[in-house]
Amino acid sequence: MKRILVLLSGGMDSAVLLWLCKKDFQEVYAVSFDYGQRHRVELKYALELGRIAGVKEHFVVEVPVYRSLKGVSALTDASLDVPKGDYPKDEPPITTVPMRNLVFLALASAIADAYEIDYIGIGVHSLDSPYPDCRPEFITSAEACITSASTYSSKTKRRMHVYAPFLGMTKREVALLGKELGVPFEKTYSCYLGTEPPCGECPTCLQREEALKGVL
Ligand SMILES: [Zn+2]
Repeated sequence: MKRILVLLSGGMDSAVLLWLCKKDFQEVYAVSFDYGQRHRVELKYALELGRIAGVKEHFVVEVPVYRSLKGVSALTDASLDVPKGDYPKDEPPITTVPMRNLVFLALASAIADAYEIDYIGIGVHSLDSPYPDCRPEFITSAEACITSASTYSSKTKRRMHVYAPFLGMTKREVALLGKELGVPFEKTYSCYLGTEPPCGECPTCLQREEALKGVL
């Protein structure tokens, strides 16, 4: 049986991934992270998406380390302002959370290994993402690393897979796929500020609006 654990933030990319996995895998699990994000409200959306999608089990994992990093990321330190407007072109944005995808994949792999789930899904898209831990080379090496550390893998000789089907896609292409799959985009949430309704001005609000133009 094909089984997968999906990293689910509550945003549109991971929601599209979840719906894609519902189609392509027999058993789907979800994991969401409470890491001190100022838009912690996204967890409410993630749980609701998991419920609608009918995931077998939804884990919510606390990641306290980011709360103790001061002056590093505007996503986890409320004393830093979230910028308005598009992402900067040539430097990592102030909303970068150091090693976030590595930390999340490491924690997810503990669950996957324990439950003998050999696929971990992550909704990163590399073409228009400014974050280094969304690049294909990171995903490839994370997969090798998880496989080499896995008890399940060493027992069964099966590889652990990091399933990242949106690598090489733009957010717009992810949105169009989501439309085809019937993703309830109105139940997804992305705003960095964590306001309801979303601010409409932060980089992720703008990127989301652009991607969903004509889709909703
Ligand atoms: Zn916003």
